[in-house]
Amino acid sequence: MPIYEYECKACGFISGHLVLKPSDRAKLACRRCGAKKLRKVMSRFATHKTESQRLADFDPAKPTGGTFYKDDRNIGLWAQKRAQQLGLDMGDSFQETLEKGRSKKILDNL
Ligand SMILES: [Zn+2]
Repeated sequence: MPIYEYECKACGFISGHLVLKPSDRAKLACRRCGAKKLRKVMSRFATHKTESQRLADFDPAKPTGGTFYKDDRNIGLWAQKRAQQLGLDMGDSFQETLEKGRSKKILDNL
């Protein structure tokens, strides 16, 4: 199926569109904001993933970028968030460990 990905020039939203003939291309509009100015995304063209497949593959628990854990403030953030979601009280020692991790002091104790 000739499904191509287009990026909206107005809001940046990328969506897959089925384009069988040139007139289909002319009718394309952003699914988020409705703008008609779309740009074909060539780099992702070969993946042929549908939007639902991409959504299924997306794991919100994963950091969004490689720089995530390079920021000291993000160390232990996931564990903290998870504990919060589960309603667990990890106690002061947990907070202390996080603080040590963030300030790199934890390395001194290894
Ligand atoms: Zn848009």
